[in-house]
Amino acid sequence: MADAALDLVAIAPTDNLRYLLGFAPHSDERLCLLLISGGEEAMVVPALNAEQIASLAPGLRLADWDDAAGPAATLAAVLRSLGVSGAARLAVDPELRADHLLALEAALPHATVTNASSLIAPLREIKDDHELDLLRRCAELDDAAVRAAYAALEPGMTELELADVVAGTYRERGGAPEFTIVGGGPNSAFPHHATGSRRFETGDAVVLDVGGRLDDYPSDITRMAFVGDPSERYREIHAIVEAAVQAGIAAAKPGVSCADVDAAARKVIADAGYGEYFTHRLGHGLGISVHEAPWIMAGNDAPLRAGAVHSIEPGIYLPGEFGVRLEEIVHVDEDGAHRLSSLPREVHIAHV
Ligand code: ZN
Ligand code: ZN
Repeated sequence: MADAALDLVAIAPTDNLRYLLGFAPHSDERLCLLLISGGEEAMVVPALNAEQIASLAPGLRLADWDDAAGPAATLAAVLRSLGVSGAARLAVDPELRADHLLALEAALPHATVTNASSLIAPLREIKDDHELDLLRRCAELDDAAVRAAYAALEPGMTELELADVVAGTYRERGGAPEFTIVGGGPNSAFPHHATGSRRFETGDAVVLDVGGRLDDYPSDITRMAFVGDPSERYREIHAIVEAAVQAGIAAAKPGVSCADVDAAARKVIADAGYGEYFTHRLGHGLGISVHEAPWIMAGNDAPLRAGAVHSIEPGIYLPGEFGVRLEEIVHVDEDGAHRLSSLPREVHIAHV
């Protein structure tokens, strides 16, 4: 904050707060803000949540307001007590609700407002041993969920039914499903297909991009299956995407720019003639949020740092035909990138 010449950082009940305090209260229209000034912090909280927050964060100064009075006077008093006034420089949580930002701006009409991500994202980017342990355990759950889907896949089953098998595996193992993208046949060509009621048919490529959550930390994996024997064309595309994953993993080292990691994998696909069918960035960081820094994409010249955890997920999407994406989550240390999953990336063949 001192380096950025900031007077105040305002954090909402989002993953940023969960990262800083270890919990995030229920988020709704009631104003709830952690306010951090140079030397002090305080939290403006709705009265109905105050007792719970006090038990979770003993020692944190709480200023509560009730529904009848509204938050404006409490917010103003806390800002005064923190010595924040006039042309203050604020950094706010990017997921702060617009109405709460407006309340903050009403309390400090001469303030300038910037995005607090530049302060918090670099902290979140580097995982400590505890976070890494949770991410690894969740990755094991993911492997089990994909194996269960492989075992269940058969013609006639719907995408939603297969997604249920995945979700059930997380629950059976003490976690919770976070998202399940299951796309069969032409639906596999939509990178973020909305899982639906289409039934699998012989000759379908099937994309499984799924993730769970265990003790606040998520997982994310993409694997491919095929109903019946894959065509030559499918095998060709799968092999190109596989080579792109390998190139991405080989390129991911501390000090290499995120853009260069993206470019290393993208080159494999472009050289094979399918560059225009790889329509998204190579990857994203994974931590408390499923998508967070570092962003592995063109234009991001920031260097990868040891301690980061991120995805490498190239794809080729042939509209109306099929798509192939393979996704690994890797942990970057001084030696390079190491994947968290131990599941092979070969296409699973569901025999019919
Ligand atoms: Zn994914
Ligand atoms: Zn991902």
